[in-house]
Amino acid sequence: MNAIQPASKSGTLASYIPALLDADPEAFGCVIYKGESFIEAGRTKDRFTLQSVSKIVSLALALMDQGEEQVFSRVGMEPTGNPFHTIQALEKEKPSKPLNPMINAGALVVTSLLEGNSGEETIGRFLAFLHELTGNPSIHICEKTAASERKHADLNRSLCYFLKSHGVLKGDVEGTLDIYINQCSVLMTCRDLARIGSIIGNEGRDPETGRGILPPRIAKIITTFMVTCGMYNASGSFAIKAGIPAKSGVSGALLGCLPDGTGIGVYSPPLDEKGNSAAGVRLLETLSEKYDLSIFSSQNRV
Ligand code: GLN
Repeated sequence: MNAIQPASKSGTLASYIPALLDADPEAFGCVIYKGESFIEAGRTKDRFTLQSVSKIVSLALALMDQGEEQVFSRVGMEPTGNPFHTIQALEKEKPSKPLNPMINAGALVVTSLLEGNSGEETIGRFLAFLHELTGNPSIHICEKTAASERKHADLNRSLCYFLKSHGVLKGDVEGTLDIYINQCSVLMTCRDLARIGSIIGNEGRDPETGRGILPPRIAKIITTFMVTCGMYNASGSFAIKAGIPAKSGVSGALLGCLPDGTGIGVYSPPLDEKGNSAAGVRLLETLSEKYDLSIFSSQNRV
């Protein structure tokens, strides 16, 4: 960790959600979890918001709520060479559905598909699902971050209205946006992230009890998106250098999973130019190289 920490100096804190500027740029923590054992290093007690890591959780829930056919009639499965908040591709694609659920446009559509009779009920279901995935019933929303994002959400708001005008996003734009902002503002630790990663890597089963939390098919879909789109327009180089299915968020959160059921949670807030945690990326690349963790290594192929 000490050798990697300087990598964070090359990054900057996300500023378009002003509350994220409160983060300590020096914070750096990592938890690796498998079965009942955790390996922890650095600032693993720090809490941070989930941000885009929430996109894999909402996708899993939407797939359970609506089924694959319905979800993928509204959002594509293809990676993008564009940044996560771009609107550009939406105009080029015909029909105008977002390329994948890991960019903001796609994630907003996914959120609009979550079941619930009210916004409150939907976010309540989302939180309950997170409680189950993490085994941590105290997980809750950071109201300060949510309020900050709400004030600066015009780009996401315009993505929603664009998608609504093309009939891709149905229902109430402001309601969908609010659920999305809340899901991005859930507070977590590296330990929580690592447990979610472990369940995804373990084909959806709780690594301690063996109980199925996600259907294996959904765990497989999520893992595939993590490889092809989880690091936005750095997914290709990350797949070559680390080969670890991963999802990042602008808070500096990074979740990884391995096919043997190992989950990895990393937190370091300064971001590289693609919006991924600079030290987090370096750490996973280094661990992968040192322990031959790439899922594309011949020894790891199943
Ligand atoms: N809440 C953030 C947004 O929508 C999440 C983006 C991210 O983590 N990349 O802009």
